Amino acid sequence: MLTRIDLRDTDLTPLQLAQRLPRAALDVASALATVEPIISDVRARGAAALRDAAERLDGVRPERLRVPQQAIQSAVEGLDPAVRGALELAIAHNRAGHAAQMPSERVTRITEGGIITQRWIPVRRVGLYVPGGLAVYPSSVVMNVVAAQVAGVESVVLASPPQAEHGGLPHPTILAACGLLGVTEVYAAGGAQAIAMLAYGAGPETQADEEASAGGVLCEPVDVISGPGNVYVAAAKRAVLGDVGIDAEAGPTEIAILADASANPEYVAADLLSQAEHDPNAGSVLITDSPALADAVDAALERRLAATRHRERAARALGGAQSGVVLVRDIEQGIAVADAYAAEHLEIHTEGAPDVARRIRNAGAVFVGPYSPVPLGDYLAGSNHVLPTGGTARFAAGLSVMAYLKPVQMIEYSAQALGAMSGPLAALAQAEDLPAHAEAVGARLRGRD
Ligand code: NAD
Repeated sequence: MLTRIDLRDTDLTPLQLAQRLPRAALDVASALATVEPIISDVRARGAAALRDAAERLDGVRPERLRVPQQAIQSAVEGLDPAVRGALELAIAHNRAGHAAQMPSERVTRITEGGIITQRWIPVRRVGLYVPGGLAVYPSSVVMNVVAAQVAGVESVVLASPPQAEHGGLPHPTILAACGLLGVTEVYAAGGAQAIAMLAYGAGPETQADEEASAGGVLCEPVDVISGPGNVYVAAAKRAVLGDVGIDAEAGPTEIAILADASANPEYVAADLLSQAEHDPNAGSVLITDSPALADAVDAALERRLAATRHRERAARALGGAQSGVVLVRDIEQGIAVADAYAAEHLEIHTEGAPDVARRIRNAGAVFVGPYSPVPLGDYLAGSNHVLPTGGTARFAAGLSVMAYLKPVQMIEYSAQALGAMSGPLAALAQAEDLPAHAEAVGARLRGRD
């Protein structure tokens, strides 16, 4: 069922490997051409442009772009008790997981009387995007909001696509998750138009907008935008970068599984399918040194696919060029392939899985052993599920408190400590032909005499 790529007799460089591996032909660069006019329109016409785009792309013209508090409250009240309990557990686990990421302020004595203090300052306002096209992701609300709140962000605003069947508001489960987390500023906006609104702000169009506005502004611009989304969301985040900060690009989901003959093919197949059901562009890749395991996984996938709810979507994902089985000589070569692929999610189902996992350089998150499946990380593990996709895990990391914190250094020297630096500083200033630099020190030292 999955396409096979046999690399057993090859000795490829990381670059050659990356070119041979399955990958979604997802072209963020060409989606830029689609999103740029949408972004310009929102910058020019604010709420009117947001409504026009929603009508065209989401099939509904939202009456209320800013979601009324009453709708958030009713969504919390209408939440299924089991879902509420699960969301509360996810929130608690994520708070613990993210609290452990918080860096502490550090004072370093560089020289007698000269210190540097490393501070971590949260940005003031963040815009969180929560997808709502093919599926709705209350879990993404938890992942984004908890990370921002633990980082100490003062103003948290969230946008998610308007749903025609919910009167042009975001999905009620998303609103309920906002309510449970205490997020009160929520907008019914999706795709590139939502990213443009978060980056540049938006003025009101209607009387309802006016009532929800402050100082003539419906939505104020944010400092950082984070959150996953489809190719249009990723392209829009790329387009606004520079005017605003963004987290890593988190596009269509991917799972790679590095497995040997000891792996349980049913677990492997179930996990490959679990990500394939997200999106026809999702990638599911098995890397194994065992052709027998590959055969067993194929058989299990066929059977599971026939019985799964989102059969059509998952079949397209599994049958697409972005999915497949990569046959390797041994786990050593498997590690090189996994690093070259740089999966968003990487599961390790091998003998000595913890040791193999520690040797991985490139992955958004690594799931170790048979009882740590990706869906655990999607919801409840306490880790963040907003992870870098499309091979960007080579240089980018999953969403964490770091997305919202700025390291700022405070430099504090005494007169004596500055005096001790004056000679070497003057030498460097002279080497750069910047005498006023040396004079800034000289003026102080002379002033003391
Ligand atoms: P989405 O909210 O990202 O996208 C929906 C929006 O896309 C719509 O509101 C619309 O404005 C815009 N859009 C749709 N077609 C368009 C077009 N032709 N031109 C311009 N804009 C258009 O929801 P989605 O589509 O369901 O995608 C969610 C994605 O997020 C999935 O690929 C899923 O795998 C991914 N995801 C990733 C992570 C992660 O951490 N990497 C987590 C959750 C979800």
